[in-house]
Parts: sequence; structure tokens; C-alpha cells
Amino acid sequence: MHANPALTEASPKIQGARTISGWGRYPRAASEILVADAPETLPALLRGRRGVIARGAGRAYGDAAVGQRTTCLTGALDRLRSFDPATGRLRAEAGVMLADIVRTFLPRGFFPPVVPGTQFVTLGGMIASDVHGKNHHREGGFGTHVEALTLLTPDGVPRPCSREQNPDLFAMTLGGMGLTGTILDATFRLRPVESGWIDQQTRVAADLSAMLRALDEDDAATYSVAWIDCLARGSALGRGLVYRGEHAGRQTCRAAGRDLFPIPARGWLTVPPGLPGWTLNRASVTAFNATYFRRGAAADASALVPWQSYFFPLDGLAAWNRLYGARGFVQHQCVVPRRGAEAVLSEMLDRVARLGTASPLAVLKRLGSGGGWLSFPMEGYTLALDLPATAATLALLDELDRSVVAAGGRLYLAKDARQSRDTFEAGYPALPAFRDLRRQLGADGVLASRLSARLGL
Ligand SMILES: Cc1cc2nc3c(=O)[nH]c(=O)nc-3n(C[C@H](O)[C@H](O)[C@H](O)COP(=O)(O)OP(=O)(O)OC[C@H]3O[C@@H](n4cnc5c(N)ncnc54)[C@H](O)[C@@H]3O)c2cc1C
Repeated sequence: MHANPALTEASPKIQGARTISGWGRYPRAASEILVADAPETLPALLRGRRGVIARGAGRAYGDAAVGQRTTCLTGALDRLRSFDPATGRLRAEAGVMLADIVRTFLPRGFFPPVVPGTQFVTLGGMIASDVHGKNHHREGGFGTHVEALTLLTPDGVPRPCSREQNPDLFAMTLGGMGLTGTILDATFRLRPVESGWIDQQTRVAADLSAMLRALDEDDAATYSVAWIDCLARGSALGRGLVYRGEHAGRQTCRAAGRDLFPIPARGWLTVPPGLPGWTLNRASVTAFNATYFRRGAAADASALVPWQSYFFPLDGLAAWNRLYGARGFVQHQCVVPRRGAEAVLSEMLDRVARLGTASPLAVLKRLGSGGGWLSFPMEGYTLALDLPATAATLALLDELDRSVVAAGGRLYLAKDARQSRDTFEAGYPALPAFRDLRRQLGADGVLASRLSARLGL
């Protein structure tokens, strides 16, 4: 089992106020902590409480998993309930870590239908954020693959939800950021795979036009994602590397002399606490990006890479969120519609490059449409940028938000720590219906995170 970092060894069920944050360590806030130990005892634990939100592994970057008053840790709801190898159908409790699902089922020839960029997330967190992977253009978000779930609604009743049973509640819970209830368990299908290797093709894009073209050409590819050099300017603006991936077949792996299911690497590096905030500065990031681009461009265009390196490259460096020092960092992840995307992305990248404080972790992906009422994806391109939480970057991000809204795009709630209510309302057309149904559920004021209070959800 992978230890859920949100849980201590002997967690009492009700703890006093603790200062907590999301993965970006910004903002931080005091919250009473509750520890859910079983689905059956959760109604009694939550009864009469207001301003509560569920928290899985705390990997949302901003304040989505920080309760307005109280935060309920769900990591101990970690039982795998049933699995059918004939169909790949898995029923599991919401606190089960994705890392445990992969570790248990990959050696048996199954892989989750959608995974985000880290395996240290819970099933409940993946559903509540309707996470997207490198295959959203083909497979939709994780929610698309959820067949059923059990939701503990604010009246203390566990309700079965699916496309047939309580369909509205189901649709608003996929991507609903924990604001419809606490997910207790869910059923979804794993996909069969022949190996734990990914057949990766790397292509070089010299500028933004080439980059968008390369992503469009990947419509038929199973996986596609691009790293973008967000400090490159002028004719190199938007340059980067595009990584297409397919699950490698048995024959390919055998021909290359590989074990079908490579053992996950352990003993990874950990970033120590207390690093100063300037560890990532213009000079270090420019040098890193230039070297990364050069090496990527010179490397084999085609390679077999283990699943961990392709899907979860950042997981190899534990606690990498400390790289930004005590002030923390924010991730700005937007999606903009395809039409007009090049102009708006190029304007945004130019502003970020001029500011010069972005980190090397800049990612561009294609997204398809569909999902729950508040799901982030829409047909278009998504750009994710990490930036230190300084006054200058926060001011710049307000300007970038205006460009995103003008282009008809929106920001991802699971990454958000700072967008304004106006930006949010402009981007999510189903918001009035979501608010109405939340009122009818009796969730207003009862289920509330710092994010929902900030955005008037
Ligand atoms: C390195 C890194 C890479 C990432 N890459 C991607 C990516 O590629 N694609 C993507 O979509 N996301 C990505 N994310 C974001 C991450 O997948 C989501 O934030 C996910 O929700 C985190 O899961 P968690 O268990 O940590 O949830 P938390 O962060 O604890 O909570 C996130 C939300 O889920 C709700 N929630 C959690 N558990 C429950 C429950 N049992 N019932 C109801 N609500 C619940 C919380 O209230 C909160 O609103 C990335 C994050 C990191 C740190």
C-alpha cells in the first residue's frame, strides 16, 4: 500500500485545527481535521457539521481540498471491493490510491482507462476533479469511465448514482469538486494491456504553429502530450517536444528483450525542506529548458519507455513542490477552444517568457469535449504553467485570465488557487444549474471548501 501523505499513523477521528494547503503550498489555511475510518461511520462523523469538504491525497494544487471550516480525510477508505477479470470491472472505495490500483492490476494485464500526471491521487479525487489524461482527445475524462458510485449526500444518506440512477446527481458529481457529497466508492473498468511499456515517439516542434500541428496529427494516437519551453521567445516561441505513446504489445517487448511488466523503480530522490524560493530562477530555468530541448531533439525518436516515466515523470522526485520555497507556487491551467487558439496561446506564452519566472514544467495537450457539469475539458488545447506565488506573477495571471475568457476558455478548478469569481462564472455555463441543484440537495454552506467559498459555488 502507498501511504496516503494526508494520514498520520494513529489518526484520531477528530483533530484540532491544523494549517493545511494543496500541492502548491499556496494558500494555507487552518482547518479542523476529521478522519473517515469506514464508510459506515462517516454519516455520524459529519452530522451537524457545516463548511466541510472531503480530501483525498491533497494533490489538487490550490484550495479545493481545504475545508472552509473542516476537512475530512478519506484516505482510510482504501479497500478494493471486487474485480472481474473477464470485464476489467473494478469496484473500490474512494480513498484507494491510483498507485495501488496500478501496482495491483498492471502485472495482471490491466491499466486504468485514464490517469493524471501523478499516481499519488485517490479514486475519489480523480472523480471529483474528473481528471483528464494524455488520452482525453480519445477517451474523455476519468468520469466517462465511471459506471456507478455511492455518494454520501448532506442528509447523511448514501445514494447509488449512475447514468440510470440519480443521473443528475451523478453528472454533477463528476468534476463536482466534492461539493455534492462524499464519494464512498466507485465502479469503473480497467483496460487490458499486454505490457507495462509505452512505445513512445518524440517529435520536435520548432515553434507554436508546429507544436499545434503536431498535437492535431495525434488525433488517432492513444496518448499525446507536449512539453513546451515557456522561456523561448521570438521565432522559437512555443517550441517544444511532443510525446506520442501507445501501449507496447507483447511481441515488441519480447523482441527488445524486456520483461513485460517492469518492476516499479523505488528509492527515488526527495527534495529537502527549506529550499530558498530562488532555486528556480530565470537563469537556471533557461539553462534547464535549453538542455532539455537539445537532448530531447537529439534522442531516439522512437523508444520503449516504462509506464512510470511516460505517465508519471514527476513522481520520481518526491516532494518536488518544495522547489519553490516557503512562499509556494500556483499552477495556471487553462483550456482554449481550437479556433483562435494559436493567437491567444502565443500572446500568453510571450507574456510569461517576458516575466521570466515560469518553471520548466510547462505542458500543452489536446482535449476533447464532454464530462460532468463542472468538468474542465472542452474541445481545444490546454496549457499548464507552474509559477512562484509572488505578487508579480499573480498580477500577470489576472491578465492571462482575461485573455482566456475572451477566447471562450476556462481555468481548471483542481489547479486553481486564485481566479476571480467573474473569470470562473464566464467559463462554466452549467454553473447556474449546479448551484440550483446544490441548494435542493441542502449542500449550500454544509459542503464548502475554501475554493467554493472564494468562487461562490
Ligand atoms: C504532479 C501532478 C500532476 C497532475 N496532473 C494532472 C493531469 O494530468 N490531469 C488532471 O486532470 N489533473 C492532474 N493533477 C491534479 C490531480 O489529478 C487532481 O487534483 C486530483 O483531484 C487529485 O486527487 P486527490 O486524491 O489528491 O484529491 P484532493 O486533492 O485531496 O481533492 C481534490 C478534489 O476532490 C475532492 N475529493 C477528494 N476525495 C473525495 C471524495 N471521496 N468524495 C468527494 N470529493 C472528494 C476534494 O474535495 C477536492 O475538491 C495533477 C496533480 C499533480 C500534483
